[in-house]
Amino acid sequence: FNVALSREQTLELRAQHIPKSCKLHFEKSPMKVVRAIGQYVYDDSGTEYLDCVNCVAHVGHCNPNVIEAAKTSMLKMGNISVGMTDAASEYVAKLKATFPPEIDTFLFVSSGSEANDVAIQLARLHTGGYDVVSVERAFHGGLSVTNNVSPKQFTSGEKCPDWVHVVSCPDLYRGIYRETDITAVEKYCKNAREVMERAVQKEKRKLACFISEPIITVAGVIVPPSKWMNSIYKDIRSFGGVAIADEAQSGLGRCGTSMWSFQMHDNLVPDIITIGKPLGNGHPMACVATRSSIASKLSNDTLGIYACDLVSAAIGLAVLSTVRSLSLQMNARTVGEFLREGIRALGHQHQNIGQVRGTGLMIGVEIVHSQKSRKPAPRIADKICYKLLEHFVIVANDGIHKNVLIITPPMCFTWENAHRVTVALDKVLQEIESITVDDDDDELTQPFVDSNRLLLSMNDIVNTSSEVSSNDDTNVLHNDFFLPPNTSGFLDDAD
Ligand code: PMP
Repeated sequence: FNVALSREQTLELRAQHIPKSCKLHFEKSPMKVVRAIGQYVYDDSGTEYLDCVNCVAHVGHCNPNVIEAAKTSMLKMGNISVGMTDAASEYVAKLKATFPPEIDTFLFVSSGSEANDVAIQLARLHTGGYDVVSVERAFHGGLSVTNNVSPKQFTSGEKCPDWVHVVSCPDLYRGIYRETDITAVEKYCKNAREVMERAVQKEKRKLACFISEPIITVAGVIVPPSKWMNSIYKDIRSFGGVAIADEAQSGLGRCGTSMWSFQMHDNLVPDIITIGKPLGNGHPMACVATRSSIASKLSNDTLGIYACDLVSAAIGLAVLSTVRSLSLQMNARTVGEFLREGIRALGHQHQNIGQVRGTGLMIGVEIVHSQKSRKPAPRIADKICYKLLEHFVIVANDGIHKNVLIITPPMCFTWENAHRVTVALDKVLQEIESITVDDDDDELTQPFVDSNRLLLSMNDIVNTSSEVSSNDDTNVLHNDFFLPPNTSGFLDDAD
């Protein structure tokens, strides 16, 4: 490994010139990465880690097909701003073939944030409306407009503008309505309709669009019920708006059952679909896919949105063909299910495993103080991430309480990799349990003590009785519940 700077020098230069807001994964002991290949990354000591949180490196770090495509096309021509290329036309035709026929027009940009920004511009031009309906806890990018429509950012100081209307996240495990209530999905649909009605009828706003991921990843890999998605799409259209599906993380076969995650939901066809950097395996390319009648609203002079350069097209083609030739969608489906089952089985021995959910290689694991209480355990989740790193496995924690382990690895993730994660997680949970209070009753009455001997006040916990009724599985799409549906739980106080 050819490492030019010492670890200290790298850190010092970073501290001097890069703001703290640009957070590093594993802030307390950041890794210095010197190489990556497939689903593995290597630090400056040559240690190999299994990377379970990189959906951008869709077909694997340094995928040879992608590198060859980039190298060959770069040798032929650099960035050109005149003329057309065969590769771009071929790429667009191949991409189009993955969508329903009405999605026939593609605009290329450089990032998921830009794609969502353009999608909102298009929605506004097409509908004449301005306002955006978004989902609680969602994230759609870091540009000013996309930040504004990302309720996740509202918890860190950003305010919800008056043109953004937030509907409840249909989280049947931890949301306001839960799986124990057979009318929960209807209630979430009603909530969304009421939010839109209030905006239009009371506040006299004009809606341009509803934006959501078909699998709500940043909020903790929540798979919304199809009924809810369909109901909101119907409602937003009845109010004159259009539906945007953000596939920045969930597209290109990652959900396992289809190429695009909106296709998991019965008969759902968005008006605009945004695709992020997985499209180029990390090469900065992203896309807005829509109907020609919507795209035509952009002025012919619009700058910054182009028809894809040769290098991006060549890379995009390499990614698409690799997904196909290696059957990566099927791989995501089978390996993802195997991993979820493995982690779910750990829940029989480890009380900290709450709901294990997701689809394909998009997995969320709720870390809770106990399965009965469901109280979110962000510190334990954080500890699990650091301890898994000691076992050379990289995962992240996210969700509104930062208590959901997120597993979205490159799509070449194998059965062995999945087994390795399950074994490591088992060991880590055993280690954590040996140094923490493990008695559920203790936990309800005494402060929780973690391995750093940090005291956690339990005073703010509110015990609620939840409605006990039969679970309506028909309303839940791939939502895998580890717990029986008669569990009473705490409200969602983060610790
Ligand atoms: N949408 C979602 C759902 C995302 O997770 C992200 C970030 N990965 C974005 C949009 C923004 O994408 P980018 O970082 O490429 O701007």
